[in-house]
Amino acid sequence: MNGLLEHSAHCPFCDAQLTLLIDTSAGADHSYTEDCHVCCQPILIHLHQDSDGHWDISLEQE
Ligand SMILES: [Zn+2]
Repeated sequence: MNGLLEHSAHCPFCDAQLTLLIDTSAGADHSYTEDCHVCCQPILIHLHQDSDGHWDISLEQE
């Protein structure tokens, strides 16, 4: 099963457009940190899958 989901988002620090590769096999409700490839700040990424299978993804400053 392919557990990678591509998601476009903006960096909460520098507002650069980012393409995130989300590892959906890690669970329906988890968060992780990824450094912005533009400004190198740590972005906290929250993932939540609702009951109809839609992924809700939010980014915030760590
Ligand atoms: Zn950034």
